[in-house]
Amino acid sequence: MDVRPGDILTMKKNHPCGSNEMYVIRSGMDFRLRCTGCSREFMIPRNKIEKNIKKIKHQDEDISGTMQKKKIKEKPDV
Ligand SMILES: [Zn+2]
Repeated sequence: MDVRPGDILTMKKNHPCGSNEMYVIRSGMDFRLRCTGCSREFMIPRNKIEKNIKKIKHQDEDISGTMQKKKIKEKPDV
């Protein structure tokens, strides 16, 4: 599964805050994600998160949401 920092993951399960989109801060053995709804950050093991990913939206394919682009710009050097 090709997940890169800067991607937006759409999850099968909603976060308690109601959002199901997670911004990828770091990928690797463990993923560091930030919820786009409540801005909380988490570390999640790769094998656990892969089961919960519904859709991956790569940064360079994101032409729809201006709100998401703003969030991506917080980390410009990915
Ligand atoms: Zn949340």
